[in-house]
Amino acid sequence: MAETAASLALDIRGIEKSFGELQVLRGVDLSAKRGDVVSIIGSSGSGKSTFLRCLNLLERPDAGSIRVAGEEVGLRPGKQGLEPTDRRQLRRIRSELGMVFQDFNLWTHFTILQNLIEAPMRVQGLSRAEAIERAEALLDKVGLTDKRDSYPAQLSGGQQQRAAIARALAMEPAALLFDEPTSALDPELVGEVLRVMQLLAEEGCTMIVVTHEMRFAREVSSHVMFFHEGRVEEQGPPEQVFGNPNSERCRQFLSRL
Ligand code: ADP
Ligand code: MG
Repeated sequence: MAETAASLALDIRGIEKSFGELQVLRGVDLSAKRGDVVSIIGSSGSGKSTFLRCLNLLERPDAGSIRVAGEEVGLRPGKQGLEPTDRRQLRRIRSELGMVFQDFNLWTHFTILQNLIEAPMRVQGLSRAEAIERAEALLDKVGLTDKRDSYPAQLSGGQQQRAAIARALAMEPAALLFDEPTSALDPELVGEVLRVMQLLAEEGCTMIVVTHEMRFAREVSSHVMFFHEGRVEEQGPPEQVFGNPNSERCRQFLSRL
């Protein structure tokens, strides 16, 4: 069945972004159906992080349109690029896009449980009991039930990142955006995070994943995008991008790994 624009989890068109003279994004499109896992690969500096940050307007794009779960984000030209026209809509859109960063970004002065219940209570208006019930189910899913009352510093990097994923999920977002979620981890801790991400993919969670983990990109994604100098140089199903890429640059990038 053909998906209409309104039924897409994400529909992003023509994102452009410059920092001064440096044009970092030169017109990037991305559309994801519910349940898609899109991996974004490419050299350092090719614009992957900037693109993710533009999606939730942590960075202001200079041009483009952003539609999340069928809702077009109101944007108008401002001093530093497009700015949101409606702060309330921006808050809602941000809560639909759960971000998971390389360096976890948990609130260090909160316990793991507090990290998970804060936004659902504050932003979504859940009661404390409702938020705790949701948080406990998520801690169980990521294997951290016994860390409920610990502080982030008491956890390993892999545990902190699993907690950060649970915190993102606690808002029941339309999509999760990951920016190199395993890059800061000791090698022996990478697997436990990738396993949680694979489980979420199997459960139908919509995910956009900037990653250097080519095995994950190949085995878990439904779609792979190769960024080069702010453009999508190659994209397609993983079998095509990894097995038989059209782009010579993509071939070279993969052969250097
Ligand atoms: P990637 O995530 O693919 O490594 P980035 O999106 O982080 O790439 O960066 C793309 C380019 O934009 C790089 O040249 C980087 O130095 C530059 N850049 C990123 N953020 C800023 C910023 N806030 N100010 C100026 N330049 C930036
Ligand atoms: Mg980056």
